[in-house]
Parts: sequence; structure tokens; C-alpha cells
Amino acid sequence: MTYLVAANWKMNKTVGETLEYLEIFLPSVEDLTNIDIMIAPPFTALASASLKLEKSNVKLGAQNMHFAEKGAFTGEISPVMLTELDVNYVILGHSERRHIFGEKDKLINQKMISAVEHGIRPILCVGETLEERELGKTLNVVENQIRSGLAGIEKDLVYIDIAYEPVWAIGTGKTATPEQAQEVHRFIRSLINEISKGNDEKTRILYGGSVNETNARNLIKEDNIDGFLVGTASLDPKKFYKIVTEVMEV
Ligand code: PEP
Repeated sequence: MTYLVAANWKMNKTVGETLEYLEIFLPSVEDLTNIDIMIAPPFTALASASLKLEKSNVKLGAQNMHFAEKGAFTGEISPVMLTELDVNYVILGHSERRHIFGEKDKLINQKMISAVEHGIRPILCVGETLEERELGKTLNVVENQIRSGLAGIEKDLVYIDIAYEPVWAIGTGKTATPEQAQEVHRFIRSLINEISKGNDEKTRILYGGSVNETNARNLIKEDNIDGFLVGTASLDPKKFYKIVTEVMEV
């Protein structure tokens, strides 16, 4: 399995800042093989980033997507608009979409189905809140999010990646310990193996939540961690490069 290291820039970087970043980052990774690297800038920077990434080994991602191809959905972006820009990945069900913007499992599932239909590889984000963890509900929450996110596309797991991102670890500087992450990743692997009837060998299970250049190595050593979804640390091209190299070394 080829590991994936993905950058989620969230609402950061203008077009100019995106191009400056890529000027530094792309040469640093141009000779790397056997690893998938993805950057998801804000929507406004997708077109310029797409041109810049055209001849590179770095893939382009979007941070969200509507499920419909077009229509009266003010403020939304459709899968057709993304494929026109050669967007390869889309992050769906991110905890900020779930908790700040109130996205529910049903909507996330509609987006997942649409992404697969349009040939955009979705990264389905799942994870528990601190309260849910303390109540011992972590595996339950993750199972429900995965089963509903994948409803109707269980046979398509080969085109899908999953990111386990404990909500209490996102943007907080608190990382799950390798053991905490491993427990959930192992559970997710056996769940998706069952759901897909064994067709999950191309599905990466990424870890996300305050991953940085110093903790990446210990996390990636764990068996069921197949890469990272990185927020804050991906905003610095040198730190993101360092995370990529840590993953390459396992
Ligand atoms: C994220 O937004 O997906 C994320 C993991 O953020 P951070 O790395 O900042 O915790």
C-alpha cells in the first residue's frame, strides 16, 4: 500500500501565498516516489494550484464539496467544478464541517457517493469528541460514522480513504498516543474489511490531529496507520516536507 500524506490548509493562504508555498515545497519532493502527497488549499486557490501541480507528483485536494452537479445551492462548489480543475481528492465529513457547520451523516454520505461517482477520491473523516471518549463511546461513534458515510458505496472502498481524527486532537496540540491511535485504526481496518467483504486493501487509514514533524515518526511506525491528514503543520512547507520524509522512512 502506498502511504498518503495529505495537507488540509483550511481557511488559510491566498492565491499568492499558495504559489509561494508551492515554489518551495514542490522542488523538495520532486524526486520522491512510492508516496502519495496531496494538498488541499482553499477553493479560491484551486485553479492556480492546479496549474502549478500539473507536472508535479503532488495531487490536488478540495476541502469540501456539494453532492449535486449544479443548481440553486448558494455558496457551494460542485464535483464537476472540481474535476474541471483536476482535483483528485476531496476531504469529507471533517470535524469542523460536522461541528461548526452542522453537517450530518446523511449529507456526508450523499457527498461520498457523489465523489466516488465523479472519480474524486474522498477522504472520509471520522472521530470522537473528548466527551464521547470519556464516556467510552469512541469505537461506537467511529463505527456509526463509517457505516453511514459508506452506505451504498461499500463495494467502492478501493476508491476511498478514511481519516481517523479525534476531535480533541485537532488543532489543539494534543496528539493521540500511538497506542490510542492504533486501537482505533485496528478497529477501523477490521470494520472496513467486513463492510467491503475484503476489498479494502487500497483503502488508507490516515491519522489526523496535531501531527507535526516531531511526533510523525512514532505514529507512522504503528501497523494500521497508513499516512496522515495534517492541518496546522502543513501550512509550513518545510515542516510538511519533514513529515513526508518521516513517512518515507518507515
Ligand atoms: C485537520 O484539520 O484535519 C487537522 C488534523 O488539523 P491539525 O493538524 O491542526 O490538528
